[in-house]
Amino acid sequence: MTPVQICVSESAGFCWGVERALRLAREAAASAPGPIHTLGPLIHNPSVIASLAAQGIEVVDVPSAKVGGTIIIRSHGVPVETMAELAGQDLTLIDATCTFVKAAQEKAARLREEGYFVVVLGEPAHPEVLGIRSYAGPDSLVVQGPADLPLELPSRRVGVVVQTTQSQERLTSLVAALAPRVRELRVHNTICHATEERQQAAVAMASAVDLVVVVGGRNSGNTSRLAELCSAVQPRTHHIEEAEEIVPEWFSGVRTVGVTAGASTPPEQIEAVVGRLEEIVP
Ligand code: SF4
Repeated sequence: MTPVQICVSESAGFCWGVERALRLAREAAASAPGPIHTLGPLIHNPSVIASLAAQGIEVVDVPSAKVGGTIIIRSHGVPVETMAELAGQDLTLIDATCTFVKAAQEKAARLREEGYFVVVLGEPAHPEVLGIRSYAGPDSLVVQGPADLPLELPSRRVGVVVQTTQSQERLTSLVAALAPRVRELRVHNTICHATEERQQAAVAMASAVDLVVVVGGRNSGNTSRLAELCSAVQPRTHHIEEAEEIVPEWFSGVRTVGVTAGASTPPEQIEAVVGRLEEIVP
């Protein structure tokens, strides 16, 4: 019998922004005097957070003068008020906000200044979205799709910015729903290149295999989106955090397995999954 084929998506795992945030954190651990903290988990991956903790980098939830030392802003960025609060404190600030997130924040602020009603497409409670929304102002609105739009829009001049890890499909459906309801619609497609590449490669792979394994934190927005997109073309899609979660019964009748991973999934986690698959599939 031909052995089961295992392939890894062309574009999977750490993105540029996550690699930069990790490099800055590790450099700080090697050289900064005093305690080092990240404001919220540096990336949405529990095993990476545990390894940073072993290097003395701890997670704090709120900016506080009491922690002192060095504070690292993660790639998701923080609300404008938090940045102002941190700037006034006696601590060393390392800003690892990803360039693509900063661009979304700046575009939201510009739309607000120019008088648009700002709609942010994203997950309302995600830290990146909370940050972008703070630049868009209190009158802005966060939606996950057309169903979240109000019956009456407060203005007929609407500007859209997007959480960097959203899918093009969601943006397309939001724009299609807004366009007939407004006089002017200004759309900033702030989905980042890394997200686009990972999503396109994952969907192409999912449509060519019998089963997909998506590796990454369950609290990772971009990993969850990969799982959602892969499920749409290959219902036999499983989102896991660790290799140990793979169940042999999944593979009945399967001849090809595809593996992909979110932007916050380290290479060793992907390798461990491939190793486990090689052990359990015939
Ligand atoms: S997914 Fe995109 S926006 Fe987020 S950290 Fe990576 S490169 Fe930056």
